[in-house]
Amino acid sequence: MGIVVFWFVMAGVVAIIANSKGYDSGSWFLYGLLIWPIALVHILTKPTDTRIAERQAVQSAGMKKCLDCAELVKAEARKCRYCGHVFPVPAQTAPTLKPTGQKMRSLDRYK
Ligand SMILES: [Zn+2]
Repeated sequence: MGIVVFWFVMAGVVAIIANSKGYDSGSWFLYGLLIWPIALVHILTKPTDTRIAERQAVQSAGMKKCLDCAELVKAEARKCRYCGHVFPVPAQTAPTLKPTGQKMRSLDRYK
């Protein structure tokens, strides 16, 4: 009985490490249940998935990616702290323009 509990705990450890590195914890838990000694070595030697880790940071920590330098900055930031890129003001706070009226007038100027 003790070995079964230990086996589940080690599968859980593999899943936690996988999750912290940006991989799917569910599939790594199953992998750990089958052969945790190999799964543990595998996940410890596997590099962090930066794309998934970045996506998690964007979703959970309120971050956004700079369009110029691709670094993660706070979602509220108006200017990138790495490259100085100025982010456009979000649409909902920007002043709303009357639909088409202004645009049509400015196009008429070039006719
Ligand atoms: Zn930047």
